[in-house]
Amino acid sequence: MDYTYLTPRQIVFGWGTRVRLGELAATLGKRVILLVGGRTLTQSGEIERLENSCRGLGLDVERWKAPNREPRVEDVDSLVESIRGSASSFEETVVVAVGGGSVMDLGKALAALLVQPERVSVREYLEGVGSGRTLTVEPLPIIAMPTTAGTGAEATKNAVISSESPPFKKSLRSNGMMPSIAIVDPELTVSVPPEVTAATGMDALTQCLEASISRRRAPLPRLLAREGAGLALRNLELAVRDGTNREAREGMSHAALLSGLALANSGLGLAHGVAAALGMFVNVPHGLACAVMLPAALRYNLDCCEQDLSELADQLPEPPARDVSPRQRAEYLVESVEKLCESLGIPRSLSALGVRPEHISDLVKGSRGNSLDGNPRGVSNGELKAVLESML
Ligand code: NAD
Repeated sequence: MDYTYLTPRQIVFGWGTRVRLGELAATLGKRVILLVGGRTLTQSGEIERLENSCRGLGLDVERWKAPNREPRVEDVDSLVESIRGSASSFEETVVVAVGGGSVMDLGKALAALLVQPERVSVREYLEGVGSGRTLTVEPLPIIAMPTTAGTGAEATKNAVISSESPPFKKSLRSNGMMPSIAIVDPELTVSVPPEVTAATGMDALTQCLEASISRRRAPLPRLLAREGAGLALRNLELAVRDGTNREAREGMSHAALLSGLALANSGLGLAHGVAAALGMFVNVPHGLACAVMLPAALRYNLDCCEQDLSELADQLPEPPARDVSPRQRAEYLVESVEKLCESLGIPRSLSALGVRPEHISDLVKGSRGNSLDGNPRGVSNGELKAVLESML
C-alpha cells in the first residue's frame, strides 16, 4: 500500500467560528484580498463584520466581488488583471474566499495566478486544454470559508474553471492551492435556499460515495468518505426541510468538508465525470448534475463494488438487516439514494435538465478526464453512451 495525504494546515470547524477570521488571517499575512460571492451575506452585514474582524487587528483589506456563476476563464483573467493593477506587490498577502465552490475556486485560481511571473491566461495551466504549463511560483496562502455545504473545495487542491467557447470545464491543480486554513462555519449556510441546499448536499454525498469506491481510493480518505456519506444520508433531507436546523446544517457542512478531503486524496468516478460535461454543454449547476447522475453511476458500478456498497449501506439512517446478502444490501443502498433524490425533487431524467439526443456524443467526449478515470468499473465510450441514452 502506498499513498499521500494532503490536507489544509488548519481546519477550524464550528457554529460561529467565522468571528476568528481576523486572528487566523493575521497568522498568514498583513494584507487580505477578500473575495465574496452573492448578495445574501453582504446584505445581512456578514461580509462587513468579517472585514472588520481583519481591520480590527491592523490588516489591510481589499474586497472583490466574484461574478454569480461557476467561474470561467475570462472571470479569472479579468480579476487577476484588476487586482494586479491595484497592487505593486503581493508580499504578506493572503486570499480569503467566502462563498460556495464557485467563489472558493475563483479565489484559489487568483491566489495561484497573481504571483506567476508570466502574464498568461489561466487556460494555459488547465488540465487537458492548456499548454502543459505548471505553476512556477508557490500560490499565495488561502483561507477558504464555504457558505454552501457541498463541494468541499475548502479542502481540495484544485479549482474548476470552465469556458463556453470552446466548451470545457477543467481543473487548475497544484498542491500549493490547498487552502492553508479552512474555516467551516455551518451558520453561514443557514441562508442557502432549499433547492440549492439539496443540489449542493447531493454533491457532497456523491463525492463521499464515489471517493469510497474510486479506483484510486486510499485507506485514510476512505474512512473520512464513509463518515461523510453517513452524515449526508442522515442530514440532507432535514437541512432541506428546515434550513435553520442547526444539527442538520452542521452535519451537512461536516459531510462536505470530509467529501473534499476524500476527493482530494482519492479521486471520484462516473457521476462527476458526466457532471462536468453537463456543466459545460448544458450549463447544469454542478450539484444538480451530480445528483441526477449518482443513482445511475451507483447502478453501473454495482457488480464490481458489491462489498463496498454493502458496507456503505450501514451508514443509512435505517440500515438493512445484517443477515441479507451483500448484493441485497448494496441494492438497498442504491434504492435509498434513489428515494432520497425523489424526496428532494431531483429530476430522474437528463431531458429534464435540457439534454437532447444530439448532445449525447458531446457529453460522452466531455466526460473524459480525471474523475471518470477514477471510476472503479472501466467505462468505454459505448457504455457511457448507453448509460446516458437510457436516462433521456
Ligand atoms: P455555487 O458556489 O455556484 O453557489 C450556488 C448558489 O448558491 C449561487 O447562486 C450562490 O450565490 C448561492 N449561495 C452561496 N452561498 C449562499 C448562502 N450562504 N446563502 C444564500 N445563497 C448562497 O455552488 P457550489 O455547488 O457550492 O459550487 C459549484 C462549483 O464548485 C462548480 O463550479 C463546481 O465545479 C465546483 N467544485 C469544485 C470542487 C473543488 O474541489 N475545487 C469540488 C466540487 C465542485
